[in-house]
Amino acid sequence: MPEKNKDYDKEALDILKSFVDELNETDIRDGEYPKYASADLKYTAKLQGKRLSGKNADIRYHYITDPAPHANAIKLDKDTRYVTRFPFYIMESTTEYAVEGKVEKRDSFTKTMFANVIWLVDQKKDESYCCPNCGAVSSVRELLTGCPYCKTRFMMSDLYPSITNYYDRKTKEGIYTSVLPFALLGILLVTGIYGFMNYDLLKAVFTSDDMTQKIIQGAILAVCAVGGFLSGYILKILANILYVLLYTIFYLPGMIRLVKTKRKLPEFMRGFEKNFTLDHFVGKLIYLIRMMVYSDSYENCAVYCGEPAENQCRDIIDMTYFGFINAKNYYIENDYAYVDIDVRMYNIYCKGHRVKRKAEDYNMLIYKSVHAETDYGFSIHKIECKNCGSSFDAAREKFCPFCKSGYNLPDYDWVVKEFRKK
Ligand SMILES: [Zn+2]
Ligand SMILES: [Zn+2]
Repeated sequence: MPEKNKDYDKEALDILKSFVDELNETDIRDGEYPKYASADLKYTAKLQGKRLSGKNADIRYHYITDPAPHANAIKLDKDTRYVTRFPFYIMESTTEYAVEGKVEKRDSFTKTMFANVIWLVDQKKDESYCCPNCGAVSSVRELLTGCPYCKTRFMMSDLYPSITNYYDRKTKEGIYTSVLPFALLGILLVTGIYGFMNYDLLKAVFTSDDMTQKIIQGAILAVCAVGGFLSGYILKILANILYVLLYTIFYLPGMIRLVKTKRKLPEFMRGFEKNFTLDHFVGKLIYLIRMMVYSDSYENCAVYCGEPAENQCRDIIDMTYFGFINAKNYYIENDYAYVDIDVRMYNIYCKGHRVKRKAEDYNMLIYKSVHAETDYGFSIHKIECKNCGSSFDAAREKFCPFCKSGYNLPDYDWVVKEFRKK
């Protein structure tokens, strides 16, 4: 159950703010990524960094978070042991795509950035943990990438709270940055109201010969104009609040209603995984797509368990989730759960010096064992090659680097059986 005294909405916004600020400083080619990114996002960002280096390309993000962007956080799913929030920011942003140091594409507009922030309630992330293999004490964070002493790798859940996925959308005109039109409107409104309410008096004064009264009324009108001008700022803020509210009330649920998946899929999943959360699952889908796109070869790609195939997406240098999924079919067969799902992504292609953006749908058939134990807290378990006993990162690499035996990842987590661009 969620913690009672915690303001998840506020924390979600703080986490998104920190994430965006760090993204501004990030050089993906160095394999850096903001600290709140999930381990899956960080890992695929490393692969993306290699893709960029291979093409001598570079991406720079500039999100303007000062002054504070218009923000909100909403709850989309029911809380289980996972608590999820969907914070979003509306802000100005510029993204530059450069090849060989020359900017080839610059996107500059008002964007809404959405993120999935996930907490795992009661996660035991004590400062240190005893390696179950060699007994050495390390921090839980170190164990995520393997015991630093004996190099044993573990299957363990990520450290929460984390951002499992984020995406941005160009936001239609609506957020007002210029105060001038509102100031003019304010002058018109305030002097107009005063004039309307005192119409008879003003008419009498300005048609009479009483200079003193003319000056007094003239001064009052001037004060109204100044007051109106100043209230323009308040009008602007009110208009923006109204816009954000309408955006939240009409746009987001509309987008979600499109996706009946949001309602049906959790019912199916909770049949064998009672803490299933759609937001967490979407994070997994994005991870799988990023793995399929950024892995140059599928031969040793742990998450791909289908027919041998070539990667057809080697020109993609950046991708963001479009916010649309459609689960077309889901079933259980021989104790494995299968999901046939479409996911829409915004991709940036780089061919030589040509950089262009495209919205594309991917179709995937993914599966995992219905008995896959989901590790909550740190009931971590050692990954051991069943053949030679060596330990390796089986969540990312398919074969044991020592004896080349395979590891049956679908017994533990989702893998891809079919993957195609539609
Ligand atoms: Zn160890
Ligand atoms: Zn082995």
